Amino acid sequence: MAKKVLVIGEVRDGELRNVSFESISAGKTIADGGEVVGVLLGENVSGLADSLIHYGADRVIVVDHADLKSYTTDAYQQALLQVFDTESPEAVIMGHTATGKDVSPRLAMKLNSGLISDAISVEVDGGEPVFTRPIYSGKAFEKKKINEGVIFATIRPNNIAPLEADSSRSGDVQKVTVEIKDLRTTIRDVVRKATGGVDLSEAKVIVAGGRGVKSKEGFEPLQELADLLGGAVGASRGACDADYCDYALQIGQTGKVVTPDLYFAIGISGAIQHLAGMSNSKVIVAINKDPEAPIFEVADYGIVGDLFEIVPILTEELKSA
Ligand code: FAD
Repeated sequence: MAKKVLVIGEVRDGELRNVSFESISAGKTIADGGEVVGVLLGENVSGLADSLIHYGADRVIVVDHADLKSYTTDAYQQALLQVFDTESPEAVIMGHTATGKDVSPRLAMKLNSGLISDAISVEVDGGEPVFTRPIYSGKAFEKKKINEGVIFATIRPNNIAPLEADSSRSGDVQKVTVEIKDLRTTIRDVVRKATGGVDLSEAKVIVAGGRGVKSKEGFEPLQELADLLGGAVGASRGACDADYCDYALQIGQTGKVVTPDLYFAIGISGAIQHLAGMSNSKVIVAINKDPEAPIFEVADYGIVGDLFEIVPILTEELKSA
């Protein structure tokens, strides 16, 4: 059954995150011939509206407001509820990112709707969207649908392929004014620990190191390999606890959940809590000197040996390929 679907675009550092385009692709499936409306929140973001249209949105609503420059729960919730009020969507989709995880339950509650979080695919069955999401740290999958109210879902980055961009696509871009008041928090300044580089949760290639890397300096060859492949460096909690790298890089149950096309697990034993964050990666390559390391059970390719010998060889081979 055709539906009106609102897709919330996510802007970071003045650019749309890929999950915005993946959300439009999911929105298209759910709309089932209906309208897909992109929503952009921020300050001076209207220049990004065309990208959403090129990736499949039929129309884009732009909410430009100084209080939306940086994400705060209060401001985003107020702005989005006003958009929902005027648009009355049948479905709302956004990324399962820090923003999506924070604001979606509040919005779903206000809409008196259910919420399906962290979906990795969606299909239409019997006229209604059915979402698949991992459970038990990725060991099993469940299919879910919302029977009543607005269909609200967040989708895990890097799982639903975006549609091919078509720059000849056109659609309406509407500027909408919202009232934002009584904010309990405001962002005065954003200080980043690290700048630049590929966003870990959206990276197509991740080179992750564990306690076996043995030092901060030990991570340098991993960074070189990641740079060569256009990827990002990640880490196990073992490596973060040992202060070899920042906790922002931690992958796993209490870190980030990632699904890259290619995941290198280097000097990582493969504890269940680490697997919870990466076992759904499309191809896993493990490098470990212990042939019994549990990481080999989930790896597609395994290299048994000393990472300090293997990583430089791999990098040199890739450079000359
Ligand atoms: P280790 O288990 O010490 O493994 C190091 C590996 O390096 C070994 O397999 C060793 O053979 C190999 N190695 C050593 N030297 C070399 C060499 N020269 N060449 C090749 N291989 C070498 N962990 C996470 O990663 N993410 C989480 O989110 C997370 N959340 C947790 C939540 C809870 C509640 C708990 C209790 C634990 C959590 N952990 C998490 C910790 C997890 O249980 C493991 O302790 C951690 O993943 C181990 O990190 P590691 O594999 O780097 O270290």
